Amino acid sequence: MVDKVCSECGGTSFRNVVDAWMKRTFSFVEKGTLMMCENCGAKFLQCPKCGALVTRVHPALEAWEVSSECSNCGFVNPDIRAWDGTSPNPNKL
Ligand SMILES: [Zn+2]
Ligand SMILES: [Zn+2]
Repeated sequence: MVDKVCSECGGTSFRNVVDAWMKRTFSFVEKGTLMMCENCGAKFLQCPKCGALVTRVHPALEAWEVSSECSNCGFVNPDIRAWDGTSPNPNKL
């Protein structure tokens, strides 16, 4: 198990959540596992390999906020597509 730390509040307690809106909105959420910080409610996509938090997910996601590579194990999630921020988000369904 890896330590999960919330980038927003520093909280370390998370639970698995299903967010129907995010599932409908982002293709990588539909395919992945979403974890929510019990303290502040921030949501993160979990690395399918090691369980670390890979990237924060929220409704107004900007290109620079999205990371497809796990900083813990280096796994690159093929479901998360990088984009330049000027074109529409290719991860949106
Ligand atoms: Zn938090
Ligand atoms: Zn990982």
